[in-house]
Amino acid sequence: MSQHNLNDTIVALATPAGVGAIGVIRLSGKDAIEITDQVFYGKKLSEQATHTIHLGTIRDEGNIIDEVLVSIFRTPKSYTKENVAEISCHGSNFIIQKLIQVFIKNGARMANPGEFTLRAFLNGQMDLSQAEAVADLIASNSESSHAIAIQQMRGGFSDEIKNLRQELLDFASLIELELDFGEEDVEFANRDELKILVKKIRGLIHALIESFRLGNVIKNGINTVIAGRPNAGKSTLLNALLNEERAIVSEIAGTTRDTIEEILNIKGVEFRLIDTAGIREAQDTIEAVGVEKTFEKIDQSALLIYVFDVIQTQPEEVKADLEKLVKNNIHFLAIANKMDLNPHTKAEHYTNEILTADQFVPVSAIAKMNIEYLKDKIHHAVITNQLNLESTIVTNARHFDALQKAHTSLSDVLKSMEDGITSDFVAMDIRQSIYHLGSITGEISTDDLLGNIFANFCIGK
Ligand code: GDP
Repeated sequence: MSQHNLNDTIVALATPAGVGAIGVIRLSGKDAIEITDQVFYGKKLSEQATHTIHLGTIRDEGNIIDEVLVSIFRTPKSYTKENVAEISCHGSNFIIQKLIQVFIKNGARMANPGEFTLRAFLNGQMDLSQAEAVADLIASNSESSHAIAIQQMRGGFSDEIKNLRQELLDFASLIELELDFGEEDVEFANRDELKILVKKIRGLIHALIESFRLGNVIKNGINTVIAGRPNAGKSTLLNALLNEERAIVSEIAGTTRDTIEEILNIKGVEFRLIDTAGIREAQDTIEAVGVEKTFEKIDQSALLIYVFDVIQTQPEEVKADLEKLVKNNIHFLAIANKMDLNPHTKAEHYTNEILTADQFVPVSAIAKMNIEYLKDKIHHAVITNQLNLESTIVTNARHFDALQKAHTSLSDVLKSMEDGITSDFVAMDIRQSIYHLGSITGEISTDDLLGNIFANFCIGK
């Protein structure tokens, strides 16, 4: 990549900016150890073995900047496969800035975003989807997103894609061999076998495409809207779910003007809960905005939690509200709140062609009654099958896009064969799908693609 000269030695802070007990500055490149040696007072680092740690001071023109520990890793046994020095210093912004300046003065340059990981990729330490998993791993903050990122980083997903690609490559070469024979009517690639193979691979790709819906929600959380009439108890329920006094509970109808977003973790999956203003048709313009927002949020969500007051809201009204709110096959639950005031409320009073007994959840938000059961219901509403984190789940939009393109090309292959189109076109479509699969793992990559991916990393990664 033109703007990334791989011969340079790069430097950046690897730990978060800000004050901490320790900060870690990382250098990578041909001269990483020599540059550090020039300013380090302690043992001669260039004479030390790989994977060793050394105590000493770093000085700038004789002045001590800090007492540090330097770890050295020699090529190819490091994250980037280059020479690497990691300097653990005291975590003051002043020290960190000063040290980075000293390293730059002595021949290093500031690393670009994601450049350490880019080098790891370019030097063959990992493939592209594994490099992307590093970013996901750093960003993961739930058990399930962490499990998927680890699996992808360890190469599970890449292996699957590489195998599919290899099978297609073998077949493409057979067909291309036929083409080399020109006019002669030879057929090395049995067409029936080819169809079966293409269908099989297309099926596997389809399963990966399908897994993205789940993968995406696991990675980014599941947008969940809490809606209902004013005073139904939405804010109280939100508090009960979060077990904290976050949302402002009020006795005045329609005071939850804006939306509140909170994160609820149920069994390792993150739900982003959005409490919206009441759905009652309001004259008041501020609340009207809130009502509009409810519909907007429902459009962007995977789950709707509709809350109603068992004393105030009649079954027909519940039905009318649901008719208004439930759109685009959104999953939903109807929460019968304030059961403490009317314990005799029964599901069958409310069930109808929209609302099944399974979606009816009686609770008392104020008494925190049935809240754990509600959490189970919320989890189950979206994660219908057992969450199997061992199986391959696509979480990356770029991979999803490439898989869809590969799928389309394979459908074209089948269509061409069924229509009896000549082999050169079939071969072209196969090559196309091979290309798209290769773009996932980076066997096919362009500067633009790499630039896009690594620009989204932070400096230091
Ligand atoms: P929102 O407008 O839907 O957000 O409703 P709030 O959460 O502000 O609650 C409205 C009123 O209903 C408040 O006075 C709450 O204390 C009360 N409330 C909420 N949940 C329950 C419940 O389960 N039982 C009873 N008795 N009152 C509740």
